[in-house]
Amino acid sequence: MTTDPAVPRDLQGHVALVTGASRGIGRAIALELAAHGADIAINYRSSESGARQVAEAAQAFDVRTHIVQCDVADVAAVGAMVKEVSDALDAPDILVNNAGITRDALVMRMKDDDWDAVINTDLKGPFAVSRACLRAMIRSRWGRIVNVGSVIGSMGNPGQANYAAAKAGLGGLTKAMAKEVGSRNITVNLVAPGFIKTDITADLSEEAVELIMGQIALQRLGEPEDVAPLVAFLASDRAQYITGQVFHVDGGLVMA
Ligand code: NDP
Repeated sequence: MTTDPAVPRDLQGHVALVTGASRGIGRAIALELAAHGADIAINYRSSESGARQVAEAAQAFDVRTHIVQCDVADVAAVGAMVKEVSDALDAPDILVNNAGITRDALVMRMKDDDWDAVINTDLKGPFAVSRACLRAMIRSRWGRIVNVGSVIGSMGNPGQANYAAAKAGLGGLTKAMAKEVGSRNITVNLVAPGFIKTDITADLSEEAVELIMGQIALQRLGEPEDVAPLVAFLASDRAQYITGQVFHVDGGLVMA
């Protein structure tokens, strides 16, 4: 067991479902929650080998793991994913809606398919997975939902109208759900990363990176591990009085 004595096992006894956990930010979140002692369900769409590697890494923290394939944009499949996780581990009482995609184009040239794919994955997906998980959370009078948004939902970005709309919509969904389920001791928050080094940002040109860095107070892009600790905190009892909030993790890019 490779548990770090500096990391509290405060999520022991909880089951966390992290969507899009086969790589990038979702991977880092799954491993952070495992370090805190939560059993982990690792959702992926196509990268089974990535999901298996995350499961193996998580097991080093002496937790149970389950990998589960599901396209979160396929609303009809989401119920079966949550049932599979519940049968394998127990009903998830921590849900991290992390799976997300981009399909960039200027509005004038954006295809309906590009619009639909991003809205269905980045907004309808979190709605459907949350709906499927809420019943058990309400029954146990404890639940944590953390949605992964983006600074682009607050700032907008040329070429990302679909993504900006989906992530801004996720902010609205977060607040509405927080108000619906607060009386059942369930919190719902949004973590909005800035520019984080993953496959999504791997194709940015050197000039684009320079331009972005000039706007980041901390003068660097983020790492997935810069985002994960806040998610673990929001999933814990220490965050029991925090709900309906948006947290930017962006090195000081957006300051409201
Ligand atoms: P990556 O592209 O590195 O990873 C995306 C993950 O989501 C993969 O695990 C992928 O699975 C999964 N996924 C994609 N579509 C689906 C789907 N339909 N159903 C299930 N899983 C899916 O992305 P990041 O780690 O960078 O992004 C994670 C989240 O963070 C996203 O919501 C993104 O919008 C957000 N974000 C990222 C930022 C960044 O700078 N990187 C900035 C702000 C927000 P598979 O491997 O199987 O394809």
